[in-house]
Amino acid sequence: MKIRDVRTTLYDIPPQVKRTDAIQAFVSMEFPFIEIEDDDGVVGTGFSYTIGKGGEAIKQVIDAYLTPILYDEDPSNIDRIWNRMWMETHWVGRGGIVGLGIAAVDIALWDLMAQRANLPLYKLLGGAKDTVPVYNTDGGWLHLTEDELVRQSVQYVEHGYKGIKIKVGRENLHEDVSRIFAVRKAIGQEPYLMIDANMKWNAREATQLACRIEEADIFWFEEPIAADDVDSHVDLRQKTTIPIAIGETIYNKYVFQEYIAQGAADILQPDAVRVGGITEWMKVAHTAECFGLSVSPHFLMDLHVHLSAAVQNSLFVEYIPSLDPVLSETLELKDGHFSPPNRPGHGIMFDKDKLEQYSVA
Ligand code: MG
Repeated sequence: MKIRDVRTTLYDIPPQVKRTDAIQAFVSMEFPFIEIEDDDGVVGTGFSYTIGKGGEAIKQVIDAYLTPILYDEDPSNIDRIWNRMWMETHWVGRGGIVGLGIAAVDIALWDLMAQRANLPLYKLLGGAKDTVPVYNTDGGWLHLTEDELVRQSVQYVEHGYKGIKIKVGRENLHEDVSRIFAVRKAIGQEPYLMIDANMKWNAREATQLACRIEEADIFWFEEPIAADDVDSHVDLRQKTTIPIAIGETIYNKYVFQEYIAQGAADILQPDAVRVGGITEWMKVAHTAECFGLSVSPHFLMDLHVHLSAAVQNSLFVEYIPSLDPVLSETLELKDGHFSPPNRPGHGIMFDKDKLEQYSVA
């Protein structure tokens, strides 16, 4: 079996609702898309994403540097292909734009492999569970007024989501404190409540907030500090009982290893696109399990529902329906859970006509 064709396209999918956090606005979802076809005509589809910058550069990396590695390889040698991509781009890679390109290829290879095995992706990867609980981030954006935030949080809990995540990092700390307690009071004690600072603060500022919200029963405090600063996370973790979550801005497994080794986090949140693909996501998840840690992937729920179902130490899938505008079938919430599609491969049903309207020339 050999790879005989590789095709890439760049799409730019507009968000359906306004999404803001402490450091950025989600202006568009740039979506480099790849199809890898083997000599039996089986096609695996993969993708990467950014939120407004860099999509073209990712596509160029795939076309110029990664595609030549793929031709005439056996697509089932995924780890070997991954390591060739990593080493042959090492001068400009080891994360960032190159890593985002490698991830797209890797996702397509796993999709191809699962189709050939006639298995849903999550079963090929381990099949630890058939459903995964879901928490909702799409009602917790930073620009919302406190009233809007409370109203949407209550609505989503009533809709069945197991938890709510709200963004923090408003102008004044007391606003964040007020919003957190208002949401907790409105949704009651049972639903999980998470907060996310998107790396806005240093250790002192993050500690100040953490100390003032200990009573709000926060399930995790996400990205309190710059993700590269492992030491400050150790410092913060010693000063609060709130679990610390980190991972969406970590671009390779070695940084996760450092967080684990230093005891700097409670929950790891790898993003398959930003950590280098499914191959690397699984390595992070299994390493976390060995050290008694949970994983809860960032964003991209349509793919991450498979990865979360594949491993026993996963917590949740994050609800942000970013791909819904280009899908012919979307995930369905049942009793607060998502199930991966029961089709061979990742089974994400892209609607080519819908995608085409967002194609970037
Ligand atoms: Mg986050």
